[in-house]
Amino acid sequence: MRRLRLPLVTPFRSAAGTEHDRDVLLVRLLADDTVGWGECVAPSAPHYTSEYVDGASEVIRRFLVPCLGSVRRAAAPVAGDVTADGVAAALAPVRGHRMAKAALETAVLDAELRLAGHSLASHLGAVRDRVPAGVALGIAPTLHDLVEDVARCLDQGYGRVKLKIEPGWDIDPVRAVRERFGDRVALQVDGNGAYALADAQHLARLDPFELVMIEQPLVDDDLQGHAALATRLRTPICLDESITSARAAATAIALGACTVVNVKAGRVGGYLEARRVHDVCAAAGVPVWCGGMLETGVGRAGNLALAAMANFTLVGDLSASARYYHRDLTAPFVLDGGFIAVPAGPGLGVEPRREVLDELTTAVQTVRV
Ligand code: MG
Repeated sequence: MRRLRLPLVTPFRSAAGTEHDRDVLLVRLLADDTVGWGECVAPSAPHYTSEYVDGASEVIRRFLVPCLGSVRRAAAPVAGDVTADGVAAALAPVRGHRMAKAALETAVLDAELRLAGHSLASHLGAVRDRVPAGVALGIAPTLHDLVEDVARCLDQGYGRVKLKIEPGWDIDPVRAVRERFGDRVALQVDGNGAYALADAQHLARLDPFELVMIEQPLVDDDLQGHAALATRLRTPICLDESITSARAAATAIALGACTVVNVKAGRVGGYLEARRVHDVCAAAGVPVWCGGMLETGVGRAGNLALAAMANFTLVGDLSASARYYHRDLTAPFVLDGGFIAVPAGPGLGVEPRREVLDELTTAVQTVRV
């Protein structure tokens, strides 16, 4: 387990707090001669969900790795057999901690796919080799700053912009962007659970701006509230924090709590569960898109593979590395005509650069299975 501190190009503010730099936890799995990488997306503080990076590190070391070890000793036909398909079941005795579990499962999956010579994209069933880029803009100091930032993003080729909103920063920023850019920009907003059902009338004032969606307006466990809100808004409701598994997605859709789903592998326990979320939504005719957690190139590579699946028909929070980091851990992802290429190499298809790792690493811990 390797901790790194990556300074952000600009601080990122949402209703869930402000991040100045990214405290990254990388899992590097070493199995015989094979290496696999996984990035833990847990933020430094438990404001987005209950997970945070110090807790994830602790739970991996103290509980999750020993779970893998017990499977290896008890059930494997050949010593050392731990497969990606078996990781979720092996870790099931530990409740929650999905971001920590996802990091570990991704490292096993990456190692396994590297060994087999298959890309994560092909393993997940990708149908495209590049995906359109979208950008998430934090809460800005002023409306002027926001509009200037949107202008820069459009110039760079981003076709879809998401604005973080909170009470006091919602109608005015949306109006400012629409007034300046008209319908040149596909626009959506994300409340990160900062509103209440009592705000329904206020949020309905967003309807005339023809947003692609409003994401997670209410708190994560309020599915009934989202269903009630959906009857009072014309803007489609998307859920993010509420969708912790394929089962949670099925429930939310059945209750009428959302008509769009944001998929994040870290939030649901890994890419294999993320694929199930995709499948459940596809079967229900609900479009999905890939969310972002300020990932480095390691996590970004996996997200691009996920977003290449068929039902990812809406543009995700998939940006060039330069949007967040002066220097990424991997070779930087760049925009090409508003698109980013899906990595095609074995596994995640990226390799952290040794000199960047060495420079930015703040701690290394070794855990043996
Ligand atoms: Mg969100």
